[in-house]
Amino acid sequence: MASPLKMIGSSWRWLVGENGSARQILHHGFLVSTVLIGLFSAVFNYLMELTVPAYSLALLVISLMIMVMWYRSRFHGEFRRMSWLFCTLVTFVMLPASWLFNNGMDGPTLLFFLMASAYVLGVLPPSPIRRGIIISGLMFMPWLLLTLEHARPGLVVAYESPAIRSLDMGISYTLAFGLLSVVIAGYAKRIREERDLARIYAHKLEHLSRLDSLTGLYNHRTIHEHAEIWINQYERACLLICDLDHFKLINDVHGHPYGDQVLTHFSSWILALSQKFEGKAGRYGGEEFMILLPGGLAVARQFDRQLRDRCDASPLPHGSVRFCTGASELCKQSTLTSWVKRSDEALYHAKANGRDQLIVDRDMNVV
Ligand code: GH3
Ligand code: MG
Ligand code: MG
Repeated sequence: MASPLKMIGSSWRWLVGENGSARQILHHGFLVSTVLIGLFSAVFNYLMELTVPAYSLALLVISLMIMVMWYRSRFHGEFRRMSWLFCTLVTFVMLPASWLFNNGMDGPTLLFFLMASAYVLGVLPPSPIRRGIIISGLMFMPWLLLTLEHARPGLVVAYESPAIRSLDMGISYTLAFGLLSVVIAGYAKRIREERDLARIYAHKLEHLSRLDSLTGLYNHRTIHEHAEIWINQYERACLLICDLDHFKLINDVHGHPYGDQVLTHFSSWILALSQKFEGKAGRYGGEEFMILLPGGLAVARQFDRQLRDRCDASPLPHGSVRFCTGASELCKQSTLTSWVKRSDEALYHAKANGRDQLIVDRDMNVV
């Protein structure tokens, strides 16, 4: 059987709706606490005859109203509306009434004003005018009440005796402490929530900053970074640069949006193949792509062959995509610049040699 503490914990989580946002949890926690405190105070005030019975009755009615607000907010998605309503009720009705019926400045209401401020600042949805009204109310309502009490002391219901005042102040302090704990727990949750969100966004941004926005391949900077890493870590690797043939003409004849489609199709084939070969692929710029493959030039040839087969298997409206590839193998003294330059020169030769072909690094003399 579940222990009483566990049961209290799970009931509380159900009351506040633990899957909601931190604001909602704080709001529900505060509403539930206020209902409990309101009901308790109504009974306590009545039994101890601390103030007039009408005040206890009013407290009872208000507590029931707050219970309805909690229900609408918790189960009918009316968090925003109910939070505005509750803040207004607390600031302009409940606390002033508590002041008048609970011994004014000698009672616990100032303490409750402070508690309400802590809650309001954490919960109110963004809306400058409404926030301004509520916050000004909380800041200046005590001034108004103090002035009123000073001018018309008879308006405030006084305690029967100093002993009753001490008792009420002690209990009110403990209740206020409970409310403050709820508010602080809500703030802590909100901070954790915002920190987690910031981490997710930072991660997404980091990821996006590494990719080319049109094709989803690595961008120029990132494929360069990978090439640098490969130079230091791989014994054998090839660097290929593929360049679409007469791409400007495709754009000119079919329009740029169609050209974009050609680029995205071609990129998706490159991506799938590079993954199959356990390599990396990036958009080097415009209609040029850089691919890193583990292994020697035989692997580069296989890759190029399969990419051409893929293009032939899926002709686009203008025909099969045609391209040139220049490839070179990593050598001991390679730097990024020299490695890219060798593939670039091979690519240049492929273009000069009539396009639609692969040429591997001339220095290695393998065509
Ligand atoms: P070659 O066969 O010699 O490679 O000729 P080419 O027309 O493919 O090459 P060129 O460098 O003359 O033209 C490249 C064209 O690619 C020009 C540019 O407008 C186009 N281009 C670059 N980036 C994009 C892009 O993101 N989308 C589209 N649609 N076109 C692009
Ligand atoms: Mg080009
Ligand atoms: Mg081209």
